[in-house]
Amino acid sequence: MAVLSFVEVSEGKIKKASVEAAYYGSKVAEGLGTDSIALVLGAAASDELATLGQVGVKKVLHASDARFNNFDSKAFAKAVSEAANSAGANVVVLSFNQNGKLLAPRLSVRLKAAYVPGAVELPVFNGATAVVKKNVFSGKASAHYQLNTEKKVIAVNPNSLSPVKGSGVATVEAFAPSITDADFSSVVKGTDKIVGEIPLSEAELVVSAGRGLKGPENWGMIDELAKDMGAATACSRAVADVDWRPHHEHVGQTGLTIRPNLYIAVGISGAIQHLAGVNGSKVIVVINTDPEAPFFKAADYGIVGDAFQVVPKFIEEYKKFKSAH
Ligand SMILES: Cc1cc2nc3c(=O)[nH]c(=O)nc-3n(C[C@H](O)[C@H](O)[C@H](O)COP(=O)(O)OP(=O)(O)OC[C@H]3O[C@@H](n4cnc5c(N)ncnc54)[C@H](O)[C@@H]3O)c2cc1C
Repeated sequence: MAVLSFVEVSEGKIKKASVEAAYYGSKVAEGLGTDSIALVLGAAASDELATLGQVGVKKVLHASDARFNNFDSKAFAKAVSEAANSAGANVVVLSFNQNGKLLAPRLSVRLKAAYVPGAVELPVFNGATAVVKKNVFSGKASAHYQLNTEKKVIAVNPNSLSPVKGSGVATVEAFAPSITDADFSSVVKGTDKIVGEIPLSEAELVVSAGRGLKGPENWGMIDELAKDMGAATACSRAVADVDWRPHHEHVGQTGLTIRPNLYIAVGISGAIQHLAGVNGSKVIVVINTDPEAPFFKAADYGIVGDAFQVVPKFIEEYKKFKSAH
């Protein structure tokens, strides 16, 4: 018996959401008194993979076949189910991120496993069954799923837990799933990646803005502050819907869920649907002209003021602080 975590790499680096999934898998393994094993598909250096030991993984199965460098849910589901079967894993954990959402349903069909999309807490086992909590209605309520099948697939909501890292080092073992070209439903012929931007889902610092900014032409100060701080930019859905900002920046119930160390919200009212995506942030700073804006209730620090006066001062002070330290 073992618990298998599927760990994604991007350009050789382990994704933050996958570190969380591996940590979750290790905690489940610890509770069951079994081993935590991770599976990595695609190119990555062994010393990078060995760092999974810091979140409790004992062994990493690594399939370095170059065909895995691009995600394909059909081929990946086959490889992950083969690894689960060969490791004797009854619990498979992965992230409920973009790829995980595509992979997990296929995987659960292959493994004949019950599946929880978006777990936010560790499962509670009772014999062969397990109960797993997930959020519903934008985090206003929770549902507890009971998994009755022998095999279980759990997709963990990104940013729902903070891995505690130790000093462990995982062993890395080559793994060769029986994959043929026919297992890949698509072939990526080329990619055009945005470079130099911090991916929002991985960011520790986020500067976000909403309709209070009046128009897309006013985002220069938000971009400048984010660049100075080494932060990612985000926005409310209201501004993404009117094309002031790209939709991949929109956070909330219908957008990304993030949990940065610092979330600065400028000119965002703090509607429940927005808060659903950011209320796990460690520190929330709100800048809003309206002292009654609901966001202030969720804020650790609030500035009642006009963004067009406050943000330039913020940038000025931040630059002074940075040059002094
Ligand atoms: C089913 C559903 C799903 C949704 N999902 C999401 C979601 O995922 N994410 C999301 O964000 N929204 C979502 N929404 C929309 C949400 O309800 C709000 O309408 C939206 O978040 C409002 O965006 P906003 O705060 O930018 O705009 P507004 O509500 O218009 O707020 C603008 C704020 O800016 C302040 N302001 C104005 N001028 C200034 C100034 N000069 N300086 C500083 N502050 C100023 C105002 O006081 C106000 O608080 C969803 C709605 C529904 C119905």
